[in-house]
Amino acid sequence: MKTINGISASQGIAIGKVFFYLDEYLRVPEYKITEEEVDVELARFTAAIDKTREELKQLKLSINKESSINEAGFLDAHILMLDDPELSKLITKKITEEHHNAEWALYAVIKQYIDLLQSSNDEYIRERSFDLRDVARRVLGNLLYKKRVDLTHLTEEIILIAHELMPSDTLTMDKRMVKGIATDAGGKTSHTAILARAFEIPAVLGLRNITAEVRNGDQIIIDGGKGVVIVNPDDETLEEYRQRLREWQRKESELLNLNMLAAETRDGKKILLMANIEVPEETESVLSHGADGVGLYRSEFFFIQPGEFATEEEQYQAYSRVLSSMGDKPVTIRTIDLGGDKILPGTAAYFEETNPILGWRSIRFCMTRKDIFETQLRALLRASVHGNLRIMFPMISGVEELEQVLAFYEDVKAALVSEGVEINHNIPIGIMIEVPSAAMTADILARKVKFFSIGTNDLIQYTIAVDRGNEKIAYLYEPFHPGVLRLLKMIIEGAHSQSIPVAMCGEMAGDPYAAVILLGLGLDVFSMSSFSIPEIKNIIRSVSMVEAEELVGTIFEMKSYQEIDRFVRGWMDERFESLRR
Ligand code: PEP
Ligand code: MG
Repeated sequence: MKTINGISASQGIAIGKVFFYLDEYLRVPEYKITEEEVDVELARFTAAIDKTREELKQLKLSINKESSINEAGFLDAHILMLDDPELSKLITKKITEEHHNAEWALYAVIKQYIDLLQSSNDEYIRERSFDLRDVARRVLGNLLYKKRVDLTHLTEEIILIAHELMPSDTLTMDKRMVKGIATDAGGKTSHTAILARAFEIPAVLGLRNITAEVRNGDQIIIDGGKGVVIVNPDDETLEEYRQRLREWQRKESELLNLNMLAAETRDGKKILLMANIEVPEETESVLSHGADGVGLYRSEFFFIQPGEFATEEEQYQAYSRVLSSMGDKPVTIRTIDLGGDKILPGTAAYFEETNPILGWRSIRFCMTRKDIFETQLRALLRASVHGNLRIMFPMISGVEELEQVLAFYEDVKAALVSEGVEINHNIPIGIMIEVPSAAMTADILARKVKFFSIGTNDLIQYTIAVDRGNEKIAYLYEPFHPGVLRLLKMIIEGAHSQSIPVAMCGEMAGDPYAAVILLGLGLDVFSMSSFSIPEIKNIIRSVSMVEAEELVGTIFEMKSYQEIDRFVRGWMDERFESLRR
């Protein structure tokens, strides 16, 4: 028996047999061609590109046919990469001028690009090199006439083990048969992690060397929540995990039974529970977990894709898809929140600054790159007729900035109207409260918008001056810090003084230990990853506002986060069994 620690990417437990998906590391042949062979080699390369494009289009068609939502959006990005003129110019040059064979020319150029992406400080961009590799492998396979191992039709339930999974693997695999995933590579924001969560498949990634530790047919346990895999478990461990799996399934189905019930406290206060999404394909999971809508669609994920900046039409299509798949439920789309820790591939230099987190990011970026902002707002306004859209601006720091943003929005809207485009004229506009100055002027800002959504991920980082991505000081990042709690109270009171509702879409909203405190503070809407919704609903339904307000009264008397944390844990553990954090 061997226990290996990795990164928890998707919760849940799976026990099963290893299916070793060795997407053969294709050996790339290298040889020189003669001047006379150049044309033949170029024709071979073009034929492989054409064939790959055709395959990708077919793949997209077949996915779209089987699914009510567009899960295949990333394939467009792959097709774009195939047709990238810069790439094909470099590859052609290697063939015509350096006389390399087509396979090697492709490999050498792609490797350069991948190395560049991999050197980024941003995990998300590093992950995008997977897309490029995915496309390159397909082209290489076609040049070499090799067929990729197929995951689309599996005959038995498996635990998928691979060095790394390509987005097209994860998207097209037979999801009924894949019970768990473990890979050497990958992190929390990789495609594999995002999709595993969306499909609710337990997954542990970043295991470094799992492919060397297992053989086909080995028994394996995936503990997605803990980020642990156990290879060939002994009888005692196996029994323990079987028990935990039964317990997990019982709890999950019990929680899902709550889907039809409202999130209502025992004394009748109704709360809305919404979902956070990063990609349109998550809406299926949003609905199956009983969400009241989408509280945060991080639209910038749509832009952190390789290829050209998404056009108005592409954005319009994507937003419309999300809106129509959610029916009349509200969908809150946050405008582009780039910069800081979210950088586009190949633009690291463009965004380079001494203090990027305090710098040219988010709404500040949008208000200087009005071309990009306008394109997004036009796409959003056009899509607004397909569902219940709400637009939310991130990182607002004060009233002047907000007024400028609102004025720009009105200009874009007026231009569309004068073009005769049909739009919803009453889209609720809200802002994220994630900067302390906005929190402290909440009552002023609340006069200008229809709702607030508190972004605690950033609000905590700015309040305590603790970089949310720096593990060296992670111990300071504390949601129950009295300073943070006082700011939350100020935001909620400020909003309520102007009769607008307050949501929270930072991670704190999905933390079961924070749920009763947030209730007691008067939060109206909780937005979190779909998976957490049933558990938070269960907590809300089990307490009364009177109890929640009492709890808040007690902890506001306390002086330190440790004191609060200890007290709240005890309070919650006494009432609820096995909370997940
Ligand atoms: C936040 O800051 O809490 C938030 C929800 O936005 P993001 O995590 O995308 O910065
Ligand atoms: Mg934020």
